[in-house]
Amino acid sequence: ADLYEKGLEKTNKGFGARLNKFFAQFRTVDEDFFDDLEELLIESDVGYETAENLTNELRDEAKLQKAKSRDDLKKVIVEKLVDLYDQNGDSENEQLRVHDDGQLNIYLFVGVNGAGKTTTIGKLAKRFKDEGKTVVLAAADTFRAGAVEQLVEWGKRVDAPVVTGKDQADPASVVFDATAKAIKEQADYLLVDTAGRLQNKKNLMNELEKIERTIKKLAPNEPTETLLVLDGSTGQNALLQAKDFDKTTKLTGLVLTKLDGSSKGGVVLAIRNEMKLPVKLVGLGEKASDLADFDAANYAVGLFH
Ligand code: GDP
Repeated sequence: ADLYEKGLEKTNKGFGARLNKFFAQFRTVDEDFFDDLEELLIESDVGYETAENLTNELRDEAKLQKAKSRDDLKKVIVEKLVDLYDQNGDSENEQLRVHDDGQLNIYLFVGVNGAGKTTTIGKLAKRFKDEGKTVVLAAADTFRAGAVEQLVEWGKRVDAPVVTGKDQADPASVVFDATAKAIKEQADYLLVDTAGRLQNKKNLMNELEKIERTIKKLAPNEPTETLLVLDGSTGQNALLQAKDFDKTTKLTGLVLTKLDGSSKGGVVLAIRNEMKLPVKLVGLGEKASDLADFDAANYAVGLFH
């Protein structure tokens, strides 16, 4: 909970600071107020459409509730933000899926190079190890120079075995070996790192499909989660990537990284609003402990401090 509080603080610095500054200058609820608010939302990477819809809803709601003072309006905005963040329903949806019968959980991590896949896997491996679970890592990003070594390094740090292939090995063969090992050793988790870039987009998508088929050969009901890792500091670009991957891969959730360095935390809102995919984890730094679960309501409320 402490980490989350700390994380929230960092995550909300940019977007939250703007909102707070905006409200500090509050005078009266008029058309200028809503225009300025819409502009602020767009500048914070909330996205044009989301910013417009949100502003319209706020205008209606403020009228309905006869909101006049600064505090009235803040209350209305927080309500609307919570609605937006939480629109995928129950908060259980935000948690990583875990089999409750002790069966192996396989999490597949996809996303472009540099998004933070390897780092997220390292952090998550640390979390599971700290919980006393057994973890196997699969270094199936055999294309990016250094990706395998990076994961091997994390494996050493958190004391988890890493399955690797030869240089330029077929990623699916690495995944096959890793899945077989995790099943044989009755591991709790298998975390699979995948390539972020191949010769072209089509090859990448074919490769991801092949990896999924390979997993299903040994574990028919897997993967438990296919998580798209997005660099939150890239703003609207992250949204475009998400749409691209979503077309070809059956995603179950998102991981938003680098929210610590982002002054435009609004992208969380844009992605939630447009992708209808739960944000399962957020990355808040480069250290092993800088990973938090995402809580929609807390996030929205935490914007105002
Ligand atoms: P991959 O290519 O998707 O596997 O990306 P990496 O895991 O190699 O991450 C790319 C860079 O982003 C590395 O320098 C990481 O240390 C950094 N990184 C990853 N997640 C975070 C985060 O949440 N916050 C910050 N500040 N840096 C991160």
